[in-house]
Amino acid sequence: MSSYPDFMIDGRWILSHRGGKNPVDTSIPYAWLHEKEYCASGKVEDVATIFLTNRECPYHCLMCDLWKNTTDHTVQAGTIPQQIRYALDRMPPAKHLKLYNSGNFFDTQAIPEQDYETIAALLEPFETLVVENHPKQTGDRCLRFNEMITPRLEVAVGLETVQPDVLSKLNKKMTLDDFTNAIAFLEKNGIQSRAFILLKPPFMTEEEGIHWANESIDFAFQTGVRACSVIPTRAGNGAMDFLEQNGFFAPPKIQSLEEVLEYGLEMKAGPVYADLWDIELFSTCDHCLVQRKARLQKMNLSQKIPEPVRCTCNFGRSILTFLLAILLISFIGPEDNSQSETIKIGMMITSLSHQSACDAAELAIREANEQGGFPGSSGSMARSRELA
Ligand code: SF4
Ligand SMILES: [Zn+2]
Repeated sequence: MSSYPDFMIDGRWILSHRGGKNPVDTSIPYAWLHEKEYCASGKVEDVATIFLTNRECPYHCLMCDLWKNTTDHTVQAGTIPQQIRYALDRMPPAKHLKLYNSGNFFDTQAIPEQDYETIAALLEPFETLVVENHPKQTGDRCLRFNEMITPRLEVAVGLETVQPDVLSKLNKKMTLDDFTNAIAFLEKNGIQSRAFILLKPPFMTEEEGIHWANESIDFAFQTGVRACSVIPTRAGNGAMDFLEQNGFFAPPKIQSLEEVLEYGLEMKAGPVYADLWDIELFSTCDHCLVQRKARLQKMNLSQKIPEPVRCTCNFGRSILTFLLAILLISFIGPEDNSQSETIKIGMMITSLSHQSACDAAELAIREANEQGGFPGSSGSMARSRELA
């Protein structure tokens, strides 16, 4: 992919591709859920998430579909506390709360400031509160609210991608400096942060999507966020569908999400989560979807990397690399026991692909060993994985 359209992508263009909003009732949140999350304590704990119904976010980002469950006008004072109460009355207890408002919590057009005190009173039972906010809305209002509440505040900020050209095309109206400054401001004031990172936004190939998601995780932790959440980019908001139909976007593969999450966890810089909402959209193989979903869930909750899923959808690539390995081995000959030759094979195989190549190489080397050759196989596999 990597090419950009020759038309201008701006708020007007994005809005012109939208369909209608869903009907919403401002007396209740549009959704709420109770789930488990690996928390700052290092334990898996209960988290309640309430999706508040309020006025649409003013930014109109290219990939965003959160506007679907919003209103066109600011909700009346008292409405947001009423929504929070409504959801809490219907959910089991939790230590942690997320208040997601399809926009920016500190945008007073979305959450009226006169509601802060009532909201603060409702938050008393919680240890932590996560809200979402744009870097440009991160300022004194955030500090005033933080002083009112009992739970520890964490602000989730959309970094999206550190690929500069793509970031500017997302219409987020944010630079990397804006992000860095917002995180520094929060940190200076004792407020934690987490970054939302897009896996494979438009105008990227699968490999670029993985590369830039990894780079974005690096950047986010360097700026001081406590955690990162990786979100596979999807169509469905009109503008993204247009880009998909015209070859500027394709959704990422579930395998890519696994790869990025593994990268983030290997960094050990802080918790990294994969967003599993609608994860089915990113799988093209019915055989391994359930296993891959379970593996991602396990990584989210344990922050450790389980064994990879082995499936026939990897088979084509594996068999190719396996045959290549056999071919190479037959050229070099099992009687050539030098470790450097084995490393060469590992490197060549690895340059073709990652996990599946390693699996194929492992098989090839094991078979060669069984036939009496390749004493250096374990060293070469370690090296080939390192280079993968
Ligand atoms: S800032 Fe967030 S909520 Fe607002 S349009 Fe962009 S992605 Fe959507
Ligand atoms: Zn499969």
